[in-house]
Amino acid sequence: MTEKPEISFEFFPPKTAQGVTNLNQVLGELDVVSPSFYSVTFGAGGSTREGTLGAVISIIDAGGNAAPHISCVGASKKNVLEMLGEYEAMGVKRLVALRGDRPSGMVELGDFAHANELVEFIRAETGEQFLIAVAAYPEYHPESANPQADLMNFKRKVDAGADMALTQYFFNADAYFALLDSAQRIGVEVPIMPGIMPITNFVQLARFSDICGAEIPRWLRGRLEQYQDDIDSLLSFGADVITTLCDCLLEGGAPGIHFYTLNKSKPTLDICQRLELA
Ligand code: FAD
Repeated sequence: MTEKPEISFEFFPPKTAQGVTNLNQVLGELDVVSPSFYSVTFGAGGSTREGTLGAVISIIDAGGNAAPHISCVGASKKNVLEMLGEYEAMGVKRLVALRGDRPSGMVELGDFAHANELVEFIRAETGEQFLIAVAAYPEYHPESANPQADLMNFKRKVDAGADMALTQYFFNADAYFALLDSAQRIGVEVPIMPGIMPITNFVQLARFSDICGAEIPRWLRGRLEQYQDDIDSLLSFGADVITTLCDCLLEGGAPGIHFYTLNKSKPTLDICQRLELA
């Protein structure tokens, strides 16, 4: 196993006062893992700009390292520059640079077609001010023609200046190891952190997976369907599956794990404790 795996946690910006209180509590509970950073998603088109900024402030106030996501679909260079200025002033050191998905009805094209253009722009405007993470896809991005085309896109983002990658979530460890091998073969040397989604809700997971192209293997889907009305069994089985997956990834050389927390501490913390990371 890697000496000290680098752990990070992802949140979405809360929409309500109760959500803000919950996020602050979750931040306190996850702190025992001493994560490298907490990232905060950003709604495409700037829909969560205030919420993302608010969550970043909560993280900094709690003494953590914040990594705001910036998605560029529909964004102008001016918008992005404003955000970079705000983050720089707040002492933010990391960003997650993404294209994002165009919400239905959104018409502005924006100044960036793909995430590599955003990375290039951030580097050109801010030099080495930020450590930049980009997205990578073990099961390849649903819009790509094939895995090779997606891999070449990943390389374009790294060549544009990305320092690391966080992957889309997946349940098949071989897909992640194949991505590591292919990336290494074409000279991509940045750390590729597997993105891991704790299993807490079958219907929600199936919906997310259909959208983002993450495959739920047939055996896993069958078991989750069986437990969907028995939440305790679902959580316990889900924690077993995800702990085994993380163990296999870390044993196989993954440099760390990026958890999609969905703003809940318990499922992620359970897995970290079982992996003796907390
Ligand atoms: P890109 O790297 O631009 O790739 C998008 C597609 O275009 C891919 O199919 C790629 O192969 C293709 N492509 C890229 N360049 C070219 C080119 N020059 N020619 C032809 N094809 C090309 N979404 C949000 O809205 N907000 C978030 O906060 C957010 N956080 C995320 C965090 C992580 C860790 C991950 C994995 C995803 C996240 N997403 C988020 C989802 C992400 O925005 C979507 O998956 C989106 O569809 C692609 O974003 P990207 O940055 O990978 O895009």
